[in-house]
Amino acid sequence: MLIHTIAEVREQIKLWKKEGLTIGLVPTMGALHAGHLSLIKKAVEKCDKVVVSVFVNPIQFCPGEDLDKYPRTLEADQKLCEDAGVNIVFAPSPAEMYGENQMRTNDFLTYVIPPFFYVNKLCGKSRVGHFDGVCTVVNKLFNIVQPDFAFFGQKDAQQLIIIKKMVKDLNIPVEIIPCPIVRESSGLALSSRNKYLSDDDKIQALALSKILNNIKNCYQKGITDVEALKETAYSFLNENHDLEYLEFMDENNLDEVKKANDNTRVFIACKVGGVRLIDNILLKD
Ligand code: AMP
Repeated sequence: MLIHTIAEVREQIKLWKKEGLTIGLVPTMGALHAGHLSLIKKAVEKCDKVVVSVFVNPIQFCPGEDLDKYPRTLEADQKLCEDAGVNIVFAPSPAEMYGENQMRTNDFLTYVIPPFFYVNKLCGKSRVGHFDGVCTVVNKLFNIVQPDFAFFGQKDAQQLIIIKKMVKDLNIPVEIIPCPIVRESSGLALSSRNKYLSDDDKIQALALSKILNNIKNCYQKGITDVEALKETAYSFLNENHDLEYLEFMDENNLDEVKKANDNTRVFIACKVGGVRLIDNILLKD
């Protein structure tokens, strides 16, 4: 069932709650691929009813980012969801979510602001305000759908850690279910933004997963010095890569790590053909 309004979702949720059914939420920006589908499958397995939100959230895009050209494929998304057993595809307009005059401004909108310690690093450094937009929309979706479980991909590991922190700090009654990264057989992590890559870009983009896998191999051979592990990346990079960051952080609290251990997650962001790609890997097997 495709629903565009908050009121209609609320009505349906009320009925399900009355029946004592468990509800799962999978928040997405659409252009669904096998990565999203893995979250959806998990949700369908675990919950009585599943809501997938499809919303390109304007307030999480920074000026100059790809808000206008972000792929929008609602019809195909709806079909994929129906085939996967999703009960509601919730696809609101920006005006439905934020009102006519409140888009992309915090002058009139109540925001949920995650802690500075979690956002002044990795993607938050270059995408200023991005996680404010993410936390605000996810909090709104939690209030609209009131899910028992919400499913998020490790692909966006910083986002996942920040959402968990928001849920804990604000006592939101939802359990966050992390889901592993889905990759092409080449190793490239699936992303809606991969649609922007040319065939050649896609080959160059393999550097991200290669760098991460190589670092994990080196760690498992006994190298723990982060500077030494970082050095190993350069042999995979060439003039087609614009490396934004390669960072080693504690998996649980995003503390910077100097000596790698099993709880270390390695994060990479790199532009290829002008497209900003991210990936990450946990060093533990
Ligand atoms: P997005 O539509 O990009 O906002 O992503 C919606 C959800 O799908 C987020 O929780 C992402 O982390 C997750 N996701 C996106 N790509 C992947 C992937 N390749 N593997 C696993 N989860 C993913």
